[in-house]
Amino acid sequence: MENGDAGQKKKKTAIVALLLLCLFASFLPLMLRYVRERSIVGTLGKTSANMTEAKEAPAVVIEADGEEILRAPLDVDARYMIKDGKAELLRDDTVTLSTILETVPTALHDVNIVEIRDGVVSCAESNCDNQICVHTAAITGAALDLPIVCLPHKLAISVIGGH
Ligand SMILES: [Zn+2]
Repeated sequence: MENGDAGQKKKKTAIVALLLLCLFASFLPLMLRYVRERSIVGTLGKTSANMTEAKEAPAVVIEADGEEILRAPLDVDARYMIKDGKAELLRDDTVTLSTILETVPTALHDVNIVEIRDGVVSCAESNCDNQICVHTAAITGAALDLPIVCLPHKLAISVIGGH
């Protein structure tokens, strides 16, 4: 009788083991997929982090007489007044060349209004003689873009990084 009991016990253990094995086997693909997805996400995360590190955000650089006087992000809309080689952020949209020149004697000062809008930069206004800077198309920093130059005021506006 005892032998029979032992046999029954062995059989039960075998069935339990088999059930556990089945359970494990059915979970295996799920586990593998989970591990694989995690590793893919990990790789992607690393790649995009590397890309942001390598790629510098494009910036507008304004030089006066060969010296950098302003560096500002190209993706943030802003207007700057460059007066006699000094840059100043214009917080008020109603400030234009004509309103500035109402308070500043025109002949004595060099004034340019530089505008960054929708990812491009341009020289919106200037009191220079030739107006070439104003008529130069807006630039984005693309490979073929030349700096916007205001020769009478010795100003150069260019975009660096991002490409
Ligand atoms: Zn000009």
